[in-house]
Amino acid sequence: MKVFKFGGASVKSAEAVRNVAEIIGEYQNQKIVLVISAMGKITNALEKLLNLRSSEIDSSIADIERFHLDIINNLFSDSNSPIYPRINTAFEQLRKIIAADIENQQKRYASVVGFGELFSTIIVNQYLQYLGFKSIWVAAGDIITTENKCVDAEVIWDKSIQKIKSELHSLFVDNTIIVTQGFIAKTDNGDDSTLGREGSDYSAAIIANAIDAEDLTIWKDVPGLLNADPKYFDNTQKIDIISYRETIELAYYGASIIHPKTIQPLKKKTIPLYIKSFISPHESGTIVQQDAFADSLIPSYIFKKNQVIISISARDFSFIAEDKLSIIFDKLNQYNLKVNLMQNSAISFSICIDNKGETVHNFIIDMQKTFKVKYNDDIELITIQNYNQDVIDELIGNRDVFLEQKDYSR
Ligand code: ASP
Ligand code: MG
Repeated sequence: MKVFKFGGASVKSAEAVRNVAEIIGEYQNQKIVLVISAMGKITNALEKLLNLRSSEIDSSIADIERFHLDIINNLFSDSNSPIYPRINTAFEQLRKIIAADIENQQKRYASVVGFGELFSTIIVNQYLQYLGFKSIWVAAGDIITTENKCVDAEVIWDKSIQKIKSELHSLFVDNTIIVTQGFIAKTDNGDDSTLGREGSDYSAAIIANAIDAEDLTIWKDVPGLLNADPKYFDNTQKIDIISYRETIELAYYGASIIHPKTIQPLKKKTIPLYIKSFISPHESGTIVQQDAFADSLIPSYIFKKNQVIISISARDFSFIAEDKLSIIFDKLNQYNLKVNLMQNSAISFSICIDNKGETVHNFIIDMQKTFKVKYNDDIELITIQNYNQDVIDELIGNRDVFLEQKDYSR
């Protein structure tokens, strides 16, 4: 059994969906679980829907519907295809949920944003059946269970593993392809939940872990894992082979190629991850796997923009020791702020975090009640893996460096 994950860009048009089917067609006699994201930028459109005035909602849903119907009309020549009633029912449900008055905002969010994945998987599954594949659709909510929190929810592992295993194994008796949604799940109470934006990679990894997949392939619009974002670098290099460990580090520091939580479930079962291009599916892409010797020696660069460095010291010039650090971390937790980098000296503690406007501002004000706080915004956090002095010098150029850390341990 293989798991394939196709993201929004790979199913953003009828042509793109045809391409997905062509790729699947090259894996005859394989059992494949297909984990699919919302088409194109539909998740963003659904998020917007939540904040619209009621007078604007109808036309926005109509736009989203038109987008999907255009793709369907292009894919299916038969106007009696069952895809039409199916998609129609799904849009009726969306309209109903938007109109319903759900007081809990997280619950409302989760029950609306997941429609992108429902639409895309209904379409792809129907299209694969139409082409003659033995394909079946399964609701991610029936196989992945999360804690009772609707947004960015944690997966309940033992429950999910059990459901995925039993459900998928029985569906594979009569089918060769199982199509399901990334990103969404259901809580233990049966409400809709999400695994966090861009979470489809993680969904695929959970499923791969549960069924002991032979491998997971994430199909992207780039040739594989690159050592830098091609938006900022002209000369990017593809990494052919890399370890789980180094990939986690790259993803954590913001390489937008895969969701940082994806690796752990794979590593646990030593399931290799392939990152391949859906545009050139015959090229080798990147293999992410266990062995440390796989660690690539190509320097990799990750830029995190819009950072703020906050330096915290005691008002009385006393040391910043463990007691004060624990106060600081409690506050960070309370404000849900994630530290990207930290450094301390005897009398001050500095952190670098995403500049999430209001929250960061409130955190600083709160901290100022107890500590002396200085901050610098408009900072960029640059992470270089496999660095050498030349690449550091070249990158820094004539920028001012506020804080620098090096790990010599590897
Ligand atoms: N469609 C969801 C998002 O855009 C999940 C994903 O793409 O992974 O965040
Ligand atoms: Mg997406």
